[in-house]
Amino acid sequence: MRAVRLHGPGDLRVEEVETPPAPGPGQVLVGVALAGICGSDLHNYRTGAWISRAPSVAGHEFAGRVRAVGANVRHVAPGDRVYVDSRYLCGTCAACRAGLGQVCENLGFIGEAIDGGFAEAALLPAGNVGRAPEGVPYRQLAMAESLAVALHAVTRLQAPEGAPVIVTGCGPIGALVAILAARTGNPVMLIDRDAGRRALVADIVGGQEAELDGDWGREPPRHAIDTTGAPVVIGTLIERLGGGGGLALVGIGEGQLQLDPVKLVEKDMSLVGCHAFADELAPAVAMLADLEPALDRLIAAPIDLDAVPEAYRRQLAGEPGPLKVLIACGGDAP
Ligand SMILES: [Zn+2]
Ligand SMILES: [Zn+2]
Repeated sequence: MRAVRLHGPGDLRVEEVETPPAPGPGQVLVGVALAGICGSDLHNYRTGAWISRAPSVAGHEFAGRVRAVGANVRHVAPGDRVYVDSRYLCGTCAACRAGLGQVCENLGFIGEAIDGGFAEAALLPAGNVGRAPEGVPYRQLAMAESLAVALHAVTRLQAPEGAPVIVTGCGPIGALVAILAARTGNPVMLIDRDAGRRALVADIVGGQEAELDGDWGREPPRHAIDTTGAPVVIGTLIERLGGGGGLALVGIGEGQLQLDPVKLVEKDMSLVGCHAFADELAPAVAMLADLEPALDRLIAAPIDLDAVPEAYRRQLAGEPGPLKVLIACGGDAP
């Protein structure tokens, strides 16, 4: 079958590989319909930061149709449409036992720890697939995982209803965070160096555009979610946010932040990291139907597997394109 594999930093290849074998006990074979390219896929390609085995079929955001199930698999059956949980958990460490899979001591992700979804088919642990709700198209299901990440960040921020929220970074996660905040009645202020992306997200959520060093109004918001991971952005937010609120970090960036902790103390401000998601995947899937019009504005027609390396290049070069690139993987009609 056709697959896109990461061989090393900067080395992504479209190849012919063996189709996965029939599922063993506790496994499910999924024909992949649509997969999404994530910012973390690009980060791993550029830096090799999370390469734990190579080559590996990339891709942790995808949806498709069950082709076969192994022994002891009862919650899905051949023919079912499914979405995928990207977290590859040990299930036995203290964090897993406490229901904190996002900080599992042995945490890996599908596409790195095991072969992922940029292929016609993927062999997955049964616990990583969930049956899709009726009528929700693959193009939404392929965004369920990112929506869960965004929902985790919004949940961790705990902004009160109606409190304005700044979102820095208008990539896919920034857009989804903004969509979720707006949905709960929080006015959203959007900051991104890319004016086109910022305007698109502002239009989708009815938000206000702003500059990192510009005018935030007489009473600056107390809450923000950073999706850039850029120390200068995070430092500026800590400096400029109103007191008594918080800043949630969900971006993966680079570099160190010089931080005077007294600032957090005096501003009575929380700084929370947000990694992947905890139990937010099922609630995110349940929201997909409602959010369909907004989510559809983040995507374009899917590309095919052969076009993935070029799509990585374009995204890393910051060339214009849809916020979320979807790939038609050929395992089921998209
Ligand atoms: Zn992702
Ligand atoms: Zn664990």
